[in-house]
Amino acid sequence: MAQKPSKIREFQKRFPDEDSCLTHLMRTRFGERFTCFKCLKESTYYRVRGRRSFECEHCGYQVYPTAGTPFEKTRTSLRDWFYVMFLFCTTRNGVAAKEVERQLGVTYKTAWRMCRLIRLYMGYVDGDFPLGGPGKTVEADETFIGGRDLNGVPDDKAVVLGIIERGGDVVTRHVPSRRKAHVIPHVVNFVKPGSRVHTDEAKAYNLLTETYGFDHEAVDHSAKEYVRGDVHTNSIESFWSQVKRGINGTYVWVSKKHLQLYLREFEYRHNLRKQPALMFELLLQAFPKVRVE
Ligand SMILES: [Zn+2]
Repeated sequence: MAQKPSKIREFQKRFPDEDSCLTHLMRTRFGERFTCFKCLKESTYYRVRGRRSFECEHCGYQVYPTAGTPFEKTRTSLRDWFYVMFLFCTTRNGVAAKEVERQLGVTYKTAWRMCRLIRLYMGYVDGDFPLGGPGKTVEADETFIGGRDLNGVPDDKAVVLGIIERGGDVVTRHVPSRRKAHVIPHVVNFVKPGSRVHTDEAKAYNLLTETYGFDHEAVDHSAKEYVRGDVHTNSIESFWSQVKRGINGTYVWVSKKHLQLYLREFEYRHNLRKQPALMFELLLQAFPKVRVE
């Protein structure tokens, strides 16, 4: 998890202290001037000393810019939150709670909770939208993740379904099994009608043409056929490699219970891979109007 020193300096310059983070949050969510929620006059809100709030210049009504964001009700400083989000956006392989514990000097429990909440928030910001469409190709594939727990005891592997638009976004789902009842509904849900769908030879996918009318083609991995013309599942395979490098290298082991959250983190970075500068920016701007839970 090596961040470029120049990137870190950029971060430190932009957010040198708690105040700069709080002001950023206030301006991003509410703007420079806005209609006061209480007196309804056009107002500039000024920082209240000693609190995480700003007050109306006319009536003194206070607004807490962290309200409704993932940072509400935490004792962790906003700057620490921003910094950990920055770490998540400037790595390819993920951020270990142990590393956050070390860098921020917080307890492991706090570090772990921060990472969890940031993954949740990344999932919220990324969203899941249907992929493909007429003339576009979508690949669907499952992979197995895990296998041993922290003590080296064999564990059931988790099955993860991935759906990716070639050259575009990815959506993942941790599913109970590879059976068609667990796989096909997601494919139908996340692939737009008229898409070409490429998969391996798993029988479940035959339904895509027979029942759902997709233009479906498969390569037969069991017969060592990986590419036939432009039919292949290379995009999703390469996403799986990235996920596995992160999970095996950084996280070592991820319980099934939390797997989907980790996947959202990898989805987020994948879906913004062509605009790396936006990765952190979006997290700084997409604060929900309702609380994320
Ligand atoms: Zn007011």
